[in-house]
Amino acid sequence: MRLTPQRACTSLTDVRERAAVTPMSVRPILKFGEPVLHTPAETVGTFDDRLAGLFVDMVDTMYAAPGIGLAAPQIGVPLRAIVVDLSVGEDPAQLIQLVNPELVERDGSQRHDEGCLSVPGFEGAPPRPERVVVKGRSIGGDERTYTATGLLARAFCHEIDHLDGLLFVDRLSPLRRDLLKRRLRKRFRHED
Ligand SMILES: [Zn+2]
Repeated sequence: MRLTPQRACTSLTDVRERAAVTPMSVRPILKFGEPVLHTPAETVGTFDDRLAGLFVDMVDTMYAAPGIGLAAPQIGVPLRAIVVDLSVGEDPAQLIQLVNPELVERDGSQRHDEGCLSVPGFEGAPPRPERVVVKGRSIGGDERTYTATGLLARAFCHEIDHLDGLLFVDRLSPLRRDLLKRRLRKRFRHED
């Protein structure tokens, strides 16, 4: 999930300064139209070093973008893994790394503009629950539960949607969705 423009400006400098001194594994972020972004991802069954390495890459890529959330399919890995950090690396306590996340409760509703690192330059306001409870596992396989409201709830929904092959565009009204998708197909034309 992409940041609001104001926060993107302040955080970008910090991230670049950190990048100069810390080895990072920033991966390219795939864009609208890549099949892996439009296909449901697979459940993670093995909690090993490769999975831990995937999370290092996801966190580095999210911070470098900069973004407040990233799902594994966005870097081409079709697994159910997400990272979320509303502080974009400024507060280590806010980093959430979750394997096989599921929405187990949803209440209320909210609607705010969302951006996506895989759909740069476009925004939309899909309907989201105001409060969610998310269950999943840590990188080591331990159970984790988060209760979230507001922006964090939206970020969880946005990233879990990625694992189901859905982008925010897919949640808009049919009219708005079709209009946006026509523009997106022109903008992100894939040669294959
Ligand atoms: Zn996204």
